[in-house]
Amino acid sequence: MAITDKIYVKNHRQLSSQLETNIPKGAFKGATLDMLFQGAGLEKLDDATRDRVLDFTEDFLDCDCDNNPYCGCPERKFIEYLLELRAQGLGPDAIVDVMSDDYMVYAYSGDVLSFLDSGVRTLEAAESLAQVEGADDKRDEIRQSKQDLAR
Ligand SMILES: [Zn+2]
Repeated sequence: MAITDKIYVKNHRQLSSQLETNIPKGAFKGATLDMLFQGAGLEKLDDATRDRVLDFTEDFLDCDCDNNPYCGCPERKFIEYLLELRAQGLGPDAIVDVMSDDYMVYAYSGDVLSFLDSGVRTLEAAESLAQVEGADDKRDEIRQSKQDLAR
């Protein structure tokens, strides 16, 4: 399962009741994305909640693909966001805190940790491949990304 399948809406029950509709707990579930994309009922949310929901929509659902929000961009952008937080030196617990503050979503820090670990392993494989192919610049670039991720 991708890490984006393990990102949950915080205060999910409260949010559902404000919206007077049942949204799935998973932030990247189709019905949640649909609700966000259409913006239906968002005026029923309190200000603080609505601001965060709108930030999430603007930051992750703003592409021009025909099949938005099912194009994969929201997931890809969210993963970039996680990697950016990591590159800033944040650990799994801090990453979860920041995503909750920013977007009212959360994950289990163990899941974030495995995501980062598997990222490091993917980069290690890419690094070996670049080395075999003699692509030294590429290898150095990958090594740098790996160090940013692993610290
Ligand atoms: Zn897209």
